[in-house]
Amino acid sequence: MVVRLVLGLAITLAVLAVAGRRAFQLYRIGRTGQAVEPGRTSGVGKRVLAVTTEVLGQRKLLKWSVPGAAHFAVFWGFTILFATIIEGFGALFDRDFHIPIIGTMTWLGFLEDLFIVAVLVSLAVFSVIRLRQSPEREGRRSRFFGSHLGPAWLVLFMIFNVMWTLLLYRGAQINTGNFPYAHGAFASEAVAKVLAPLGSTANDVLETVGLLLSLGVVLAFLVLVLYSKHLHIFLAPINVAFSRRPRALGALLPVYSGGKEVDFEDPGEDDKIGRGAIEDFTWKGLLDFGTCTECGRCQSQCPAWNTEKPLSPKLLIMSLRDHAAAKAPYLLAGPDTSALPKDVLAEAERSLVGLVSEGGVIDPDVLWSCVTCGACVEQCPVDIEHVDHIVDMRRYQVLIESQFPKEAHTLLRNLERAGDPWGRGAQARLEWMAGLPFEVRVLDEGQQLPADVDYLLWVGCAGSLDENAKKTTRAVAELLNEAGVQFMVLGGAETCTGDAARRLGQELLFQELGKQNVETLNAAGAKRIVVTCAHCFNALGNEYRQLGGDYEVLHHTQLLSQLVAEQKLVPVHPVEAAVTYHDPCYLGRHNRVFSPPREILAGVPGVRLTEMPRSHEKSFCCGAGGARMWMEETIGTRINETRTDEAIATGAELITAACPYCIVMLTDGANVRKQQGKAADELQVIDVSRVLLRSVRDPEAG
Ligand code: SF4
Ligand code: SF4
Repeated sequence: MVVRLVLGLAITLAVLAVAGRRAFQLYRIGRTGQAVEPGRTSGVGKRVLAVTTEVLGQRKLLKWSVPGAAHFAVFWGFTILFATIIEGFGALFDRDFHIPIIGTMTWLGFLEDLFIVAVLVSLAVFSVIRLRQSPEREGRRSRFFGSHLGPAWLVLFMIFNVMWTLLLYRGAQINTGNFPYAHGAFASEAVAKVLAPLGSTANDVLETVGLLLSLGVVLAFLVLVLYSKHLHIFLAPINVAFSRRPRALGALLPVYSGGKEVDFEDPGEDDKIGRGAIEDFTWKGLLDFGTCTECGRCQSQCPAWNTEKPLSPKLLIMSLRDHAAAKAPYLLAGPDTSALPKDVLAEAERSLVGLVSEGGVIDPDVLWSCVTCGACVEQCPVDIEHVDHIVDMRRYQVLIESQFPKEAHTLLRNLERAGDPWGRGAQARLEWMAGLPFEVRVLDEGQQLPADVDYLLWVGCAGSLDENAKKTTRAVAELLNEAGVQFMVLGGAETCTGDAARRLGQELLFQELGKQNVETLNAAGAKRIVVTCAHCFNALGNEYRQLGGDYEVLHHTQLLSQLVAEQKLVPVHPVEAAVTYHDPCYLGRHNRVFSPPREILAGVPGVRLTEMPRSHEKSFCCGAGGARMWMEETIGTRINETRTDEAIATGAELITAACPYCIVMLTDGANVRKQQGKAADELQVIDVSRVLLRSVRDPEAG
């Protein structure tokens, strides 16, 4: 008894000292981050709900059925088996110890054993998954590519050790008569049967050895967790609790510095614009980096990574985490850094964004490859906010360093001068309505929307100026007219929403364009707006609130599906075609509009809809988001062609989408494949509204 007490307490105190030191060190690193924006720490109810569903319920992990179920078992295993740790420490003092009240109840003994077995089975599942999906077998396609594989195996081994030592201890305890449970602990009873022939003395020794081993392994595991990616065991609940709610998709945050929004008209001297160094991130950003489990779910979904670009959201987060850890001694040292080791000083010298070959942490090609599709955020089980971090780094590059891909210069110049990406100007914004069989009502300057107008139709830059998108605008206008919906347009008073500028990092330009639009919309008394572009939908509906514009914004597929349901539009003419539907990222993943476009297609007679393997939340980007539409794609394969191939593989004769940018990208992809003889000449890429128009009017229309 004395031996086990002395040894047990000595090991515990030593480990707690090491663990406490490390926890304090991590806390100090976290404190080097900037203050978070307002609202990040309020709303206790929604944050408790998030932790309940995402951590306790493992909501996101369970979307990946097999590994999700295994992780569920391990998470709940460690939670339930905390009871065995209490029992173990109690037994250091008293061999007959049991947890008060519930500590001898059959169900608890059963539950503990059930989870010991479940965890052991899960370890086998994890091992098989890791072997089958190893980077050696799958190369870049493996979600574990770039993860620290050795430590991950070590952690699995440690968990295995926790389980078998526990079974050894419990089995011997049964034989020495010190086990708290008379029945129910089926696995421990099985081990006891194996150990029983060794006799009572041997079981006495095994009980002490098993107990010390079990507690020793648990304590060693605690230290390992604090020094490895398994830190997420402690950080994930905190990270989820303070993540953006309902999610870090949709609207981007304005530029914050020190917890306050930067006023670009009157910036403060100390304002930090974007993130130009690791210490510019908020403590929540640093928490994000430290919480990454290296699971690679984000990487497996990333369109950039899947088309051989250098960007992997996982590797980006890991690089930021490693840099933060390596630079931390410098940040914590205060003004006198002379005593710091050379490697720490060298780390402090690294540019946050710069060629990796020249010491940069994040390569510019990594930063500019992102299409802001949000697939990483959607998948991340610990709610890391990749897109916000990427855009924040872009903001610094654009607004402070003036460093960004040269093709984007043309985009920004056109937006500044003409208010649209093509540089066509306000007068061209009325051309789309030429040839319509009815007159579109255009709001005069200074005019308020008349009371009989149901919706303001926001046409958007592509909808006014791109030839293909103009057909969509005309189709939507015809359908609204057919349904008797009264609508007006702003004509030349519209200017670009600034979506692409914002995602490029040019927040100042976004604000200028946005404020101009908000002023126009508010002056017109706009309340209900319908848009045909997923990016305009997101900007007007989610982001303009930040600029003083609060509107009810409908995507055209939402309004059209409603009109079909109300039988104000009746699709009667069959459109005999195999059809597939591409979910635009900014309509689907960012704004959760999945059903209306599908409802429209389902209502059109003759349409045979086949989903692509990656659809809904898992949709694969067309390659246009994040202002990538306006930049050359010179690395790897083209995202739009990859997505077009997926659409073609469904046997589709019509590829449909609900965003002009997707239509442009997929049309380009289809044209390439037609030239290569890999797609039928008849293959068409059109907006869902045009399919509906063909059915409402006649099959040749639209
Ligand atoms: S937003 Fe999309 S492209 Fe960007 S890192 Fe995430 S998954 Fe990759
Ligand atoms: S960022 Fe999230 S999804 Fe990606 S590897 Fe880390 S924990 Fe997994």
